[in-house]
Amino acid sequence: MIPNTTAIARDKVYYVAVDIDLVALDTLTPWLAHYGLTVDDVKPTEGKIWTDIVSVIEEKAEPSSVYERPYDYWCDGSIYENAHPHRDFMKFLGFMNNHIRATTKKEVRFFFCSTCVSSHKPEKLHRVKQVYGDVVQGFVDTSCKHLVDFDLLLDDSPDQCVNAAIAGKRAMLCPSPANNLEELSRVAEVYGVRDKIYMLDGEYGECFTDVCGASVFERIETLTQITGV
Ligand SMILES: [Mg+2]
Repeated sequence: MIPNTTAIARDKVYYVAVDIDLVALDTLTPWLAHYGLTVDDVKPTEGKIWTDIVSVIEEKAEPSSVYERPYDYWCDGSIYENAHPHRDFMKFLGFMNNHIRATTKKEVRFFFCSTCVSSHKPEKLHRVKQVYGDVVQGFVDTSCKHLVDFDLLLDDSPDQCVNAAIAGKRAMLCPSPANNLEELSRVAEVYGVRDKIYMLDGEYGECFTDVCGASVFERIETLTQITGV
């Protein structure tokens, strides 16, 4: 299990909730590859903030002999055995940690906030602990992330980001090829929370490398926009 951290006064800590699937671990590429598809097959849908990837697989791919329905894939914990982090994601968290600590004088704590299928949860936890060790401590399994106490959410789900922003928190939308950023902007404007959501530029899988490779000034500007500090 991921170790618990010592309790500390809430106003002394900046909490960052980190989504696992498609953010801390690239579980999208192998899912699509299982059905002979790539991220290019999952395009944003007009009028919706995200494309239903399950429907795309059902429409475009041959049925799998292993998983009867595309969603069955996620019920198998073995998918996490070889799930890898995005390039430079760990480095990105390091920059974020230093930036928030320097600007707020608060301790920064990262924890995972992920929606689990009960049958894959043990393997998922095992894998993130293996990859992220002590960098990310704690784990909350919920589909209602906006109810969790954090300052910033890193997530690829537009729904989760909008809900977090409506609940008064900040959110960084990480790239997913299925997201429709224009539509998300429109929806966020309607709810009056556009300024609470930072949309990270770049391609899926490359976005963290883009930030880490930027000049120090650009990086600080980006991190300030993401974190609000
Ligand atoms: Mg996700």
